[in-house]
Amino acid sequence: MGTAYHVKVVAPRLSDTEQDELARIITDELENVNSKMSTYQDDSELSRFNRSPATTAFALSRETLDVFAESARISEFTGGAFDITVGPLVDVWGFGPSNPERIPTEDELMVLRASVGWRNVVVDPAAGAIHKTHADTRCDLSAIAKGYAVDRVSEALTKLGRQNHMVEVGGEVRTAGRNAAGEPWRIAVEKPVAGSAATERIVPLSDRAMATSGDYRNFIERDGTRYSHTIDPRTGRPVMHRLASVSVLHKSCMTADALATALMVMGEEEALTFASDHELAVLLLIRGDDGEFTEAATPAFADLSIQ
Ligand code: ADP
Ligand code: MG
Repeated sequence: MGTAYHVKVVAPRLSDTEQDELARIITDELENVNSKMSTYQDDSELSRFNRSPATTAFALSRETLDVFAESARISEFTGGAFDITVGPLVDVWGFGPSNPERIPTEDELMVLRASVGWRNVVVDPAAGAIHKTHADTRCDLSAIAKGYAVDRVSEALTKLGRQNHMVEVGGEVRTAGRNAAGEPWRIAVEKPVAGSAATERIVPLSDRAMATSGDYRNFIERDGTRYSHTIDPRTGRPVMHRLASVSVLHKSCMTADALATALMVMGEEEALTFASDHELAVLLLIRGDDGEFTEAATPAFADLSIQ
């Protein structure tokens, strides 16, 4: 997944063997997700699906199928703001493995957009398969697979009887039980400033996930303009607005991860209305002219952050 992870397990002193065993279970879960859903590994299930021009059923593992099904659900829910078929656009803007050093032309975008659109991938859970309706359609699960991996690790730890833990993959977090001090876990929301790790605020997070989408960690600069790695599927271009970061609290880290990206696409006004209407617990950090940030939170976020 091209990122780092941290796992904390609260337990009485563990033997070396017990620690090794825990570490192995954690890395197995992460490698399982990576080997199936990475676009950086040529032999992953996702890469094979992307290479295949066939529009017939493509059988998937239960794991990848679950992520595709949730992707489709969030796309529908967010009116297409979340769209795993934006891959070709992500690449042409310089965020994929190929990393071109220029801005795509209007014509290039037009051609690519023909194969983009979440409805081009049809999920058939009963058949355990998906199919594409357009030979060139490719998918990118980067905005949801980290959250899914967090859920997998957290659930594996719970199954092992390790009920007190915190799992973080690339900034997406889920907690269970209590921290080492016997208190609710406290998770920081970063200030959305490149290269800084300053804290904007602390969120008490109990048996819940928090995912953050931001334009400050992964962006490119071309000719003095800053481009976010979040693509608006409706325009084919990186999002450009004052929303610097979106944090979403949810039981499922997979859902939180995808929703954070979708809200990032929407921009501050649409995101706040959408999140409030759907009673989502969301914190938005909005960039002002002076370089400072203002916070906007939904009522559900306010309820959860005072405990
Ligand atoms: P963030 O932490 O900012 O959400 P993620 O890695 O979770 O970052 O998601 C960003 C990645 O999601 C991009 O690099 C790209 O691969 C993909 N992506 C970009 N735009 C969209 C979109 N509208 N819907 C789904 N995935 C997207
Ligand atoms: Mg995300």
